[in-house]
Amino acid sequence: MYLELNEEQKLIQKTAREFARAELDPVAARLDQEGDQETFLGNLKKLAGLGYMGINIKEEYGGAQAGMMAFSVAITEIARACASTAVTVSVNNLVCDVIQAVGSETQKKTYIPKICSGEYNAGSFALTEPGAGSDPAAMTTSAVLDGNEWLLNGTKRFITSAPYAGVFVVWAVTDKSAPKGKGISCFLAEAGTKGLIVGRAEQKMGQHASATNEVILEECRVPREALLGRLNDGFRVAVGELTGGRVGIGSLALGVGLAAMDYATRYAHERIQFDQKITNFQAIQLMIADAYTELEAARLLLMQAAFKGEQGLNFTKEAAMAKMYATEAANRACYAAIQMAGGYGYSREFPLERYARDVRVTSIYEGTNEIQRTIIAREILKNIDR
Ligand SMILES: Cc1cc2nc3c(=O)[nH]c(=O)nc-3n(C[C@H](O)[C@H](O)[C@H](O)COP(=O)(O)OP(=O)(O)OC[C@H]3O[C@@H](n4cnc5c(N)ncnc54)[C@H](O)[C@@H]3O)c2cc1C
Repeated sequence: MYLELNEEQKLIQKTAREFARAELDPVAARLDQEGDQETFLGNLKKLAGLGYMGINIKEEYGGAQAGMMAFSVAITEIARACASTAVTVSVNNLVCDVIQAVGSETQKKTYIPKICSGEYNAGSFALTEPGAGSDPAAMTTSAVLDGNEWLLNGTKRFITSAPYAGVFVVWAVTDKSAPKGKGISCFLAEAGTKGLIVGRAEQKMGQHASATNEVILEECRVPREALLGRLNDGFRVAVGELTGGRVGIGSLALGVGLAAMDYATRYAHERIQFDQKITNFQAIQLMIADAYTELEAARLLLMQAAFKGEQGLNFTKEAAMAKMYATEAANRACYAAIQMAGGYGYSREFPLERYARDVRVTSIYEGTNEIQRTIIAREILKNIDR
């Protein structure tokens, strides 16, 4: 494994960094406090124009075909400025990945270019339900074939981008008698489909600019050909695709952690107490050394996972390790950054409290870190007797 990015990856990183600094950073605090959907969606469109909505998607479907490593570094750069934008971009890429992985040629040509180009503001990934979070196979949303249509009924919870998504990838039970997880299928539902209702918005601790809503499916009819992938194979698809998604969430956390430490370190190097810069104090130096070392370790774990994913190798364990470690390192970094800035770190005058709120959810969504640990242990134990 070569630890340097190639020229294309460097360009994607640089472009994302410059865009994030010029367009996202100046508005991130305002979007967090006041919300401004127009500006938020406008930025998504610009990112689509730059190719960031389908980074790992084939060019023939409108993607950048730049691979998972490029996806990882792009999400990190976007998250350095705005975690809400980064999660939306990450989920969009995930939705495109699902359609590309198991969709028919018609589905791929119909939906992926619209997500990549920004014609659809975003794509939504609708798996979680009120009673099925860490255990999505316990879902109760049902899909029943009625003539030439599937009839969907159920409630999804915590769905990113739901109010403005152009298309939803929705999971539902198609065979109630099958063993757990074996009777679930995946569907495409366009926004505006009768019976697809975007419900209440979550009042969240952070990532305020990204929308997270309930999605209610009430006698929602989609065409027979809206089945995505094979019948009753949907759970395997969700689990498989979430592996790549975890590289996105780990990369996002890394971006927020770096933003926090960069800000706090620059501040500490100017802050005078006891007639000297506080970076002269070993207590502050230790925080800098620990946080940057952990973030660098996170970056290397993410690179390893992305590298293996890109090679088509099994990267289940590596993605879980990277997601778990990066999100926890970034949470620690954000708290250390606040500590380094003292009372100013706790004040809204600085962006540090926003970073700490934004980073918190990264150890929860796309599989909690307890679930990541069960995946890592399972993968290790699988090989112990070999
Ligand atoms: C802001 C936000 C955006 C989201 N976006 C999406 C989205 O776009 N699409 C989507 O489908 N979902 C989305 N989610 C849902 C998210 O993936 C779930 O919240 C997450 O998987 C956890 O499920 P839960 O909230 O039901 O918690 P629970 O599963 O109820 O977990 C509660 C606690 O129990 C622990 N626990 C549960 N089972 C085990 C176990 N077997 N071993 C050890 N510990 C366990 C968990 O780790 C956790 O600490 C989003 C959530 C949030 C907060």
